Amino acid sequence: MAEALSAVFDRQDVVQRARGAFLGMALGDALGATTEFLLPGEIRYRHKVHNRITGGGWLNLKAGEVTDDTQMSLCIGRAIDETGGWSARCVMEHFARWLKTKPVDVGATCRRSISRYILKQELGKEYSDWDAGNGAAMRMAPVALFTLGNEALLARLAVEQAHLTHNNRLSDAACITIGRLVQQAILGADRPALHGIVRELIAAHPKFQYHNYRGGASAYVVETLQTVFHYFFGTANFEECLVAVVNQGGDADTTGAIAGMIAGAFYGLEALPKKWLKVLDPKVRDEIDGQVVRLLDLAPIFHRPGTAEGR
Ligand code: MN
Ligand code: MN
Repeated sequence: MAEALSAVFDRQDVVQRARGAFLGMALGDALGATTEFLLPGEIRYRHKVHNRITGGGWLNLKAGEVTDDTQMSLCIGRAIDETGGWSARCVMEHFARWLKTKPVDVGATCRRSISRYILKQELGKEYSDWDAGNGAAMRMAPVALFTLGNEALLARLAVEQAHLTHNNRLSDAACITIGRLVQQAILGADRPALHGIVRELIAAHPKFQYHNYRGGASAYVVETLQTVFHYFFGTANFEECLVAVVNQGGDADTTGAIAGMIAGAFYGLEALPKKWLKVLDPKVRDEIDGQVVRLLDLAPIFHRPGTAEGR
């Protein structure tokens, strides 16, 4: 299967779309951080339309600085780099190392789980109705790249990484769906095919229905994905999608990050605005570029049958 796939897909195109996904995520994070926790009316009053990466916001960021969405994604990529494969404990070790750097932005659920790990070295988070935040969903980009070509592996690792901090069925479903959307977009799926994946999510969890979208964009993973779906399917290019998403305010860095990874994969690297890439923190940009290549080197899609087993 993997061999058949790699014969069909042009490696160069896959790499470019994968870069589009990971860099698109960071751009959405950096762009949306400015309008995080604002209401659409407040954003209009301050910026008319917020469409430049300027930093600021409640975190008072430098232009191009990213937040936990991108930083935790990079932690997952570092753990895969370090082990040359998958180790949930190693991912948690990198989250712990990151938390000790006192990052400006850390979600409450993530902080609690990582702090507990630092104190007790125990993995495994018990199920909680309160874990339906978007903190696990926002860091799916590296998992989608690393498992590209094997949907069962994607589903397993999406949940394993999620449960390091969030153990909730809505969060799990969101993580898997985001991973599938990113992967299928990287492999060249069209809009109806991506919409089919969203319909499967809604069939299993009707809460994610978004046809009556009213503009809620809180950190509740259901509202986060409704915002992303509404604007991804309602716009025609990467920039339009991201600008629409972050001008909705709320948890705008995270809706931006998730829309950025899906739209970046779908429209491809060339569609990412150069003016935004120019401002993005160069250290972040370089680390993402390196991780994309290494994650794809390990991905099942580029491996002969059998070699992806046991990862
Ligand atoms: Mn953030
Ligand atoms: Mn956020």
